[in-house]
Amino acid sequence: MVKVYYDTDVSLEPLKKKTIAVIGYGSQGHAQAQNMRDSGLNVILGLRPEGPSWNRAKNGGFKVYPVSEAAEKGDIVHILIPDPAQAAVYKNLIAPHMKSGKTLGFAHGFNIHYKQVVPSNHVDVIMLAPKGPGHMVRETYLNGFGVPALIAVHQNSSGQAKNNALAMAKGVGCTRAGVLETTFREETESDLIGEQTVLVGGLMELIKKGFEVLVEAGYQPELAYFEACNEAKLIMDLIYQRGLIGMLRGVSDTAKYGGLTVGSKVIDDHVKENMRKAVKLVQSGKFAEEWIKEGKEGFKTLNTLMKEIEEHQIEKVGKFIRKTAGIEK
Ligand code: NAD
Ligand code: MG
Repeated sequence: MVKVYYDTDVSLEPLKKKTIAVIGYGSQGHAQAQNMRDSGLNVILGLRPEGPSWNRAKNGGFKVYPVSEAAEKGDIVHILIPDPAQAAVYKNLIAPHMKSGKTLGFAHGFNIHYKQVVPSNHVDVIMLAPKGPGHMVRETYLNGFGVPALIAVHQNSSGQAKNNALAMAKGVGCTRAGVLETTFREETESDLIGEQTVLVGGLMELIKKGFEVLVEAGYQPELAYFEACNEAKLIMDLIYQRGLIGMLRGVSDTAKYGGLTVGSKVIDDHVKENMRKAVKLVQSGKFAEEWIKEGKEGFKTLNTLMKEIEEHQIEKVGKFIRKTAGIEK
């Protein structure tokens, strides 16, 4: 069995005399910085003086510095800005201050694994990736718990990299829920594959195509939305709480029988073949290459695709339903 680290397995001691410079105050940045501070660690922030988070972080009571100054002051420089921005910020503002013995931290392995950031051998490189969005990282911490997390060590020049990563995980509250060790490669590739095939890509397409087919068949769009989208949450909640078998036991026998006999004909082996193609593109680095190019060209394709979804019928119907049902304020 995989080793899971909990609060009692981990000490905050390795970080007690260190300064942690959190770069970025967005989803992960605001949550991780506040949790580590509330756990008694010494946290400063590195932000753009003209950026949107500067005043928010100041009002939150943090010492806030321009990125390069924070990188200079920090023993651990924890990079929590968007992945496509990291390479340039690292090269121009952080790398010059990464003296021997310092630690570079990440919450996702993309830039290290695909070599967009190549730190010197004399620094430690670690990852603390909470398995949840920032507002959950903060909320669960305030409620006395945490979200689970992955840690990884890419470079261990000091010999203390893993203890530091675990201590940061404890500071963020993640050891309350359980922390697993992984590698930068495993975290990066599995994260990309999961979000493409199942979470963001797979679920969205399943819901969208299910909605389209119901509307095509002449059913009212509002009813199609309830069926293909709204109820998907209720089913997912059951799966989350009780597993697949618990979900099946929780629905009617008709739904069980229909789901079990028809589901695998709809999501058939050829879908699995398509998923394997996505796996290959991630593992070969082709997807990363495409995404880095997309960033350099100003996210044109991304913006076009976002607009297509925004204008899809399911979005118009969904907005109406969510408002009238009081789901969306
Ligand atoms: P975000 O977009 O919410 O926040 C980014 C922050 O960086 C903002 O404060 C923004 O003002 C600042 N920023 C943007 N460009 C900058 C620049 N050029 N220089 C300085 N500051 C800049 O980002 P996020 O979602 O918190 O992601 C941060 C990291 O955490 C990423 O590596 C991401 O993969 C990882 N991560 C995110 C989540 C999540 O749920 N959001 C979960 C796990 C890991
Ligand atoms: Mg992801």
